[in-house]
Amino acid sequence: MRYLSTRGHPERRRFCEILLEGLAPDGGLYLPEHYPQVDAATLATWRDLSYPELAFELLSLYIDDIPAADLKAICAKTYTAEIFGTAEIVPLRELEDGVYLEALSNGPTLAFKDMAMQLLGNLFEYELGRRGEELNILGATSGDTGSAAEYAMRGKKGVRVFMTSPDGRMSPFQQAQMFSLQDPNIHNLALRGVFDDCQDIVKAVSNDLDFKRRYRIGTVNSINWARLVAQVVYYFAGYFQATADDTKQVSFTVPSGNFGNVCAGHVARMMGLPIRTLVVATNENDVLDEFFRTGVYRVRSAADTHETSSPSMDISKASNFERFVFDLVGRDASKTRALFEGELGKAGRIDLSADPVFAQAAGRFGFASSRSTHADRLATIRDTDKRFAMLIDTHTADGLKAAREHLAPGVPMIVLETALPIKFAETIVEALGHGPDRPARFEGIEALPRRVVQLPATAEAVKAYIAQHCA
Ligand SMILES: *Cc1c(COP(=O)(O)O)cnc(C)c1O
Repeated sequence: MRYLSTRGHPERRRFCEILLEGLAPDGGLYLPEHYPQVDAATLATWRDLSYPELAFELLSLYIDDIPAADLKAICAKTYTAEIFGTAEIVPLRELEDGVYLEALSNGPTLAFKDMAMQLLGNLFEYELGRRGEELNILGATSGDTGSAAEYAMRGKKGVRVFMTSPDGRMSPFQQAQMFSLQDPNIHNLALRGVFDDCQDIVKAVSNDLDFKRRYRIGTVNSINWARLVAQVVYYFAGYFQATADDTKQVSFTVPSGNFGNVCAGHVARMMGLPIRTLVVATNENDVLDEFFRTGVYRVRSAADTHETSSPSMDISKASNFERFVFDLVGRDASKTRALFEGELGKAGRIDLSADPVFAQAAGRFGFASSRSTHADRLATIRDTDKRFAMLIDTHTADGLKAAREHLAPGVPMIVLETALPIKFAETIVEALGHGPDRPARFEGIEALPRRVVQLPATAEAVKAYIAQHCA
């Protein structure tokens, strides 16, 4: 399998080459040259596999530069009951007739990002070891991504993590999760600024090509193809749990921000998994809902990006969206480049409302969307608690509300549960009058010793810190 850029760069790369990279050289995103097809006969042979076996079969279709035995061992080491809580890894629960919740958030940091990041940590260690290289991961986080990256990379040989976050602005639980890590290869940098400052500083440091090369700076952001392909696996695992035979259709609803999770669903559907509808659920930050309703993709300004009670979906633009648009316009790279470089660069928006391809988004590609508000989240959390004695988090609540707006008779609807309620306890208290139970392993983490340094919000301060700790 070779990988191409959505903007038409002529070079074709292999999996391990793009593993450690971010964007393609022309600013595009990497995608496989084609989607391997999985028919009903293959599905039947995959149905009874364990999660790590299924991951191996699926990843093998996309990775041909890691020997099979090694890839198998990496999958077996990543997806264990010890790390993800159950042997199923992503157990499915029926909530009401035909509506299911697929649990993706029982990994180390209690959000679905662990599903991909844990694999990435093992792939990085493997590939860096093979090359005899080191990598310093620099990132910015307001919560879930940073902790998932740190728990995936802790103790990994050849990898250091420098994670910036806005000082004092993450929830107490999120701060405790990250700052209590004592591994010497994990560095928490609390910057005296807001999240946007952190992001700007990471960009500034990465744009200093001399510094970047000298200190081997890399990222683990959501456009990484390895993260995306790891997420395709749980669409198959969810399908097998919700169906008894391999021709039946199901639908998925996906709480969405950067379009990474639902893009993995799109890939699963393109491979032939019988998915009828992919419902994109957004909160008040409805860039994506607006596109699927109107054909206009309008990036928001910082001032126009709301702070909501499902904060991991508070985005102003959806960084993986270009991958879907590339497929939507018939894999036409020059058209994709004109849209994302030209139109989006100039006008801050892409308008496909008058383009005949827009109808294909709902048609051939099966997308639908819905948006929710804070009041919707409270109502859904309350209702789910009352009728099913089940506690769901705010992002999953956005999903469940959207799912109910797109049910079709006889088609199971699988809602992806993207975090556990303990991460967003404040809103649970607001909805129910009491907080969620805390998993035993997180009891008292706020009192643990902390490993974090406070720095001014400048690129110079961050560079100096990295230089000092890379010797
Ligand atoms: C990251 C995240 C999302 C959004 O996922 P995308 O892949 O960015 O669309 C939704 N819910 C939770 C809890 C998250 O951490």
